[in-house]
Amino acid sequence: MNSGSGRGELREMVIALRRYVHRQQRAGIWLLPRAPSADRKLEKTASGALLGEMEDNLFSDYAIAYQAKSLEELRAAIGDCRRCKLWPGRTHLVFGVGNHRAKVMFVGEGPGRDEDLQGEPFVGRAGQLLTDIITKGMGLKRSDVYIANVVKCRPPENRNPEPDEVESCEPFLKKQIDLIRPKVIVALGKFAVQSLLKSKVPITRLRGVWQDYHGIKLMPTFHPAYLLRNPGDKKFVWEDIKKVIRELK
Ligand code: URA
Repeated sequence: MNSGSGRGELREMVIALRRYVHRQQRAGIWLLPRAPSADRKLEKTASGALLGEMEDNLFSDYAIAYQAKSLEELRAAIGDCRRCKLWPGRTHLVFGVGNHRAKVMFVGEGPGRDEDLQGEPFVGRAGQLLTDIITKGMGLKRSDVYIANVVKCRPPENRNPEPDEVESCEPFLKKQIDLIRPKVIVALGKFAVQSLLKSKVPITRLRGVWQDYHGIKLMPTFHPAYLLRNPGDKKFVWEDIKKVIRELK
């Protein structure tokens, strides 16, 4: 290689890197990923199937999230996220809350109005019912479990998250699950169940039946918001929760 073409190549690399950094900044990302290392290969193996499909590309928008070693690092990697079209409508990005070593993790659909305003999942009326399930039903504290959603920003008018929004946020939920490694996931409602299991089977058929989520036991059950509209179905959720309690013993 003569020095002229070497300089040209260097200039192209600098331009590509500058574009990458600008793209990251527009996506609300202010951290740069570490270089891959032998250590990172080990991490990937340990994470097994769960993160197997996650992009392992140093220059992807998810590289720093993939490398996070704690929930705090993951939150920092998500940054002031603008990876999907939900960001302009949010007050807070609702990351998740609870015990980082929780044995049980609850996954809902996405933040509603109260959650968006407070930055915490399940704090509205449906959240109060979920808190009752955890405290009165399971005899646990909210701080014993971990609570997160499929999407971290409120969809406008509480509409269902759209497929591209779910796809943008999915690596973060997967990484949360990977870091917490709960014994059991309770998927709340049709949307969370179908998104996690990549299934179109109706929740009425799935609820109460143990499923496998990358080696973690997953219990599909009705969403607390559904129970507020259909209190007669609370008995089914109680059946499902009893199975979860037995599994946790
Ligand atoms: N519904 C959800 O699915 N998640 C929340 O955080 C609140 C309501």
